[in-house]
Amino acid sequence: MKKTIILARHAGFCYGVKRAVETTKKLKAENTHRPICVMGELIHNSDVINELESLGIKTIFEMPEQSSFQEECGICVIRSHGLAQTEIEKIAKNGFEVVDLTCPDVKKVQQKAVELAKDGYFVVIVGKSEHPEVMAICANAKACSDSVYVVSSVDEIDEQLKSKIKEAKRIGVVSQTTQRIKNLQSIVAELNALSRELVVFNTICASTTLRQNEACELAQHSDLMVVVGSKKSANTTHLAQILSNVTKTIHIENENELDEFADLVNAAEKIGVTAGASTPQNIIEAVVNKLERYNKS
Ligand code: SF4
Repeated sequence: MKKTIILARHAGFCYGVKRAVETTKKLKAENTHRPICVMGELIHNSDVINELESLGIKTIFEMPEQSSFQEECGICVIRSHGLAQTEIEKIAKNGFEVVDLTCPDVKKVQQKAVELAKDGYFVVIVGKSEHPEVMAICANAKACSDSVYVVSSVDEIDEQLKSKIKEAKRIGVVSQTTQRIKNLQSIVAELNALSRELVVFNTICASTTLRQNEACELAQHSDLMVVVGSKKSANTTHLAQILSNVTKTIHIENENELDEFADLVNAAEKIGVTAGASTPQNIIEAVVNKLERYNKS
């Protein structure tokens, strides 16, 4: 049985990730003598992190001190997920030139959450509280108001939160950029039943929506969907969850992991491939090539 393998058009780096990776490499090329670090992993992909390391671009996880670097003023890159404004200010105060590569779509969510908090809304951020993008949105809004909460599912709206929402006059909702629309909709429906005035900003980014819709369409005509990308990546994991409701879906980080699913691959005639926003092109190509080889074996 000859297999048909179709790669989704919008698979791999989104514009926010592409901009962050390209700009960081360019910065190093233009500032060869200056130390450059990135606050947190630039993207969820170990190959890319290793490549940056080999270029002399360090990944750090704690507030950098200028003294721990060379004498020349260091550059600290803020990744596409963003960082709390107070943290950015601390880095600059510690003597670094800050290059802020927060994705413009993430910036919009941060601004919206701050506006809502300043306008006296009870702010609900739909997303994962431990995700760096959500942590930064939450921290910036909390600098303006105590009434800021993060909710990742309807189940997290417990009795305590319900009574706070009922007390609040106005509720404002924003979403992590890579959320699933169905999750946002079900949380909004729950909040709507509890609140008197509800304002919702669907801040799921256009790139995520396009990728999810296109992959769903492909999944409808596929016996198997292969999602390529890090298990740490929120948008890749969401993609796999969404597609598993449409057809058989596997989530792998690279072509080697395909071996575990050889039976599923052998049994499928039409295979769709998609990838998260932080998956480099060469990894996607390696997966597609390996799938093609199943036709020859
Ligand atoms: S997934 Fe969307 S918000 Fe996140 S970096 Fe990419 S374009 Fe920006």
